[in-house]
Amino acid sequence: MADAAKAPVVEEVKNCPACKKPMKRARRFYRNGAYYCNNNCFKKVQATAVKAAQDAKAAAEQSEEQPKA
Ligand SMILES: [Zn+2]
Repeated sequence: MADAAKAPVVEEVKNCPACKKPMKRARRFYRNGAYYCNNNCFKKVQATAVKAAQDAKAAAEQSEEQPKA
């Protein structure tokens, strides 16, 4: 009997959000709900996210800034 029905074991490969390199399950780094290839890439993404949040906050504060009577 052929074992054709047996599903092939495919290792899930994700790309690091920082350097875009494909990551293997065994090597990935889990931080704050996301996977990175190493701690350096995690810090890189964190710095970008913090800056984006600050920019968004500044923009929101500017748009809300209205002269009060
Ligand atoms: Zn990376």
